[in-house]
Amino acid sequence: MAVDVGGTSIKGGLVTSDGTILYSERRPTPRAEGPDRVIAAISSFVADLSRPRPHTAGLLAPVAVGLAVPGLVTPTHAVFSAAFGWRDVPAEAFSEGDLPLTLGHDVRSAGEAELAFTGGSEGEGAGGAREGGGHVLYLPIGTGIAGAIVLSGSLYGGASGWAGQIGHIPVWPDGLPCGCGQRGCLGAYASASAIASRCGESSAAAVVRRVEAGDAQATSVWDEAVEALAVALATYTLLLDPALVVIGGGLSLAGDTLLVPLRERLASRLAFRHPPGVRASSLGVHAGLLGAGLLAARARQPTAPGDPAT
Ligand SMILES: [Zn+2]
Repeated sequence: MAVDVGGTSIKGGLVTSDGTILYSERRPTPRAEGPDRVIAAISSFVADLSRPRPHTAGLLAPVAVGLAVPGLVTPTHAVFSAAFGWRDVPAEAFSEGDLPLTLGHDVRSAGEAELAFTGGSEGEGAGGAREGGGHVLYLPIGTGIAGAIVLSGSLYGGASGWAGQIGHIPVWPDGLPCGCGQRGCLGAYASASAIASRCGESSAAAVVRRVEAGDAQATSVWDEAVEALAVALATYTLLLDPALVVIGGGLSLAGDTLLVPLRERLASRLAFRHPPGVRASSLGVHAGLLGAGLLAARARQPTAPGDPAT
């Protein structure tokens, strides 16, 4: 069972260990109602998905749960999330059943899915993380922006699990205030939610349509978002020398409207070296669910000695 908890929706489903999604559904995240309601919503989703479910391949019953959440997280605790306001929530709080459950970071596990399930077979332009020779930044852009840093084929979490907070890199130090308390953060310009609200729209997709129709206000906000991304990616490139940047999340659906100017501006900000490739994720919006599935596969490992199914 894979459950990916986002700021606006919780995606849950049943996936195989080789990355096939057999069943999935999406429910709203009751974030405005406080941390306890979010935890209760996850727990009831897990309970519903635990029940055997008819499928063309037979009756499906999950053997383990992978739960991907934002913030600071260990395999056994959701330590901190600014988005949900929770602190030190143990894994057991998310499930009343007996299935083994592993927690993981939403963006890093989605990045792990990019690494595990893409690369080579999708054809030019749709490749995933593996083709970057193991030096890849996976950057989903949605309500917020965070990155999964892959160095020499391994995910890098940092000293305390906070690595990859690219959305809070200051791109213009005296710029717009960010919800995190800093000013001028990348996310204040280039997150899907920032782009939408700066244009008075309910979604970034509506802004993209206006940009493609030549609307001046939307184009100005869009240009600033692309420029902010180019500044942040130039910094990342100079520091860590990635071969490839894979853009995921909802904003990746903008396709060439995002990728073409982003490649140009990133190249123009790097005077003495070539830029890394910039591509859209080939897993798209499924990366989060498949990443949670990888966590479930880890929960199944020999930590459950009494389980005859393993
Ligand atoms: Zn910030």
